Amino acid sequence: MTKFRTTAVIFFLFFANISFAQQKDQAIINAIVHEEMSNSQLENLAHELMDGIGPRLIGSPKMLQAHDWAIAKYKSWNIDAHNEKWGEWRGWERGITHIDMVAPWTKSLEGTQLAWSPSTKGKTFTGEVIILPDLADSVAFQKWLPSVQGKFVMISMNQPTGRPDYNWEEFGTKESVQKMKGLRDKQTADWQKRISKTGYNTRTLPLALENAGAVGVVGNLWSKGFGVDKIFGAYTKKVPTIDVALEDYGLLYRLAESGPAPKISVRADSKETGVQPTFNTIAEIKGTEKPNEYVILSAHFDSWDGGTGATDNGTGTITMMEAMRILKKIYPNPKRTILVGHWSSEEQGLNGSRAFVEDHPEIVKNVQAVFNQDNGTGRVVNISGQGFLNSYDYIGRWLSAVPDSLKSGLETSFPGYPGNGGSDFASFVAAGAPAFSLSSNSWQYGIYTWHTNRDTYDKIVFDDVKTNAIITAIMAYMASEDPATTSREKSILPFNKRTGEQGKWPEPKSPIRRGGLD
Ligand SMILES: [Zn+2]
Repeated sequence: MTKFRTTAVIFFLFFANISFAQQKDQAIINAIVHEEMSNSQLENLAHELMDGIGPRLIGSPKMLQAHDWAIAKYKSWNIDAHNEKWGEWRGWERGITHIDMVAPWTKSLEGTQLAWSPSTKGKTFTGEVIILPDLADSVAFQKWLPSVQGKFVMISMNQPTGRPDYNWEEFGTKESVQKMKGLRDKQTADWQKRISKTGYNTRTLPLALENAGAVGVVGNLWSKGFGVDKIFGAYTKKVPTIDVALEDYGLLYRLAESGPAPKISVRADSKETGVQPTFNTIAEIKGTEKPNEYVILSAHFDSWDGGTGATDNGTGTITMMEAMRILKKIYPNPKRTILVGHWSSEEQGLNGSRAFVEDHPEIVKNVQAVFNQDNGTGRVVNISGQGFLNSYDYIGRWLSAVPDSLKSGLETSFPGYPGNGGSDFASFVAAGAPAFSLSSNSWQYGIYTWHTNRDTYDKIVFDDVKTNAIITAIMAYMASEDPATTSREKSILPFNKRTGEQGKWPEPKSPIRRGGLD
């Protein structure tokens, strides 16, 4: 062969190779889209998890049930999966909560006990409802304290409006909106003063009240939308702590303030189940060429328990499960290992993912990419490079394989800034592993579903979750097939405008491995 001909043949082979690779990519991407569009399992998964099992509070029997359910699902798809123990938590099982106003008239109230609330042990307690008074100082408070004996004490302020701001802004005059906001700001500040003057804070005040003989603590943590409250944990150790919805809280408050004096009956059952193990559910499809390099799909599995954790983080959970199912079917022999982590106790501080990062340095140092999802049901609209200098290169290339119709409105920011919390990708970013958040559009997540009593199945937007499952599967495929290992080079972080100091990369943090057991 002449030199010319050799070169021509090499050229030909080179281009043939590229186009063969592109055709293979395209065929797999088409198959991923087709599988989701024609055989989606998302509704089944959502129903089984949110309706069949319910909320997944760390340490609760439901959390353990969910871990076992996920293992069974993966096994049914022929994907290896196991539960990996990383710590222990106080075990608590939610029972029924019944709250009724029995004087001056009768009404069943909307409300629920907070997580870890002490039980009324099958009994119903009836008592007058009183408001935490505005007293001069802690001495006056101590003098007043014995009067809580046998009573329920309201410790939250009464909201001046049950209408969300967007509703006021649509229908109110400029003046009335301003007046309402001014009133609310003043009232909020006054209420904070009222609490601090007792000598206690919002954590210690409920304990002081129960020690003085109160039969229950009543609060309202309005989430600034119609009918939504945030439901977190109780601080009492003997008597129940309940959240009463804004409408009913206002009713009780006005009656307690101006009469006729209200009485309520409360039954709040629950069970302490002792020290419980905490797990992450890990599943993987082993890589064939580079089994020791990892593409990680990531979503926390636990939730608060006022609703059923549908958008926080049921949707992230089922997105990752569905992406794994599709990948196993369409791309069963990946180049790199594709691993999914369903972390627990994200809600108490990213504990499950921090434990995984701490326990598996050999995986973390060989991470090709982590894709985490955890901010609601919406379509992915933002991906930040998390401060990795060359992330624009690989994230950009992988994203270009996603069909345009699935990424309308999707924006990227590079190199971005390393996330220091918020969700589990941050545990990996802190360890220097290229980890990214597939960030959703809002659907008013912050007001309506995040940690609320309304975070339920009906809020899931399945069209958007389908899109996300496809994007996740395609990104995982592209990351797995990439001929290059991803760069971990960090960008130089900008100076903090407030402190004038050079920005610092977040440090890895150790998880809480024994929670709620003090
Ligand atoms: Zn979450």
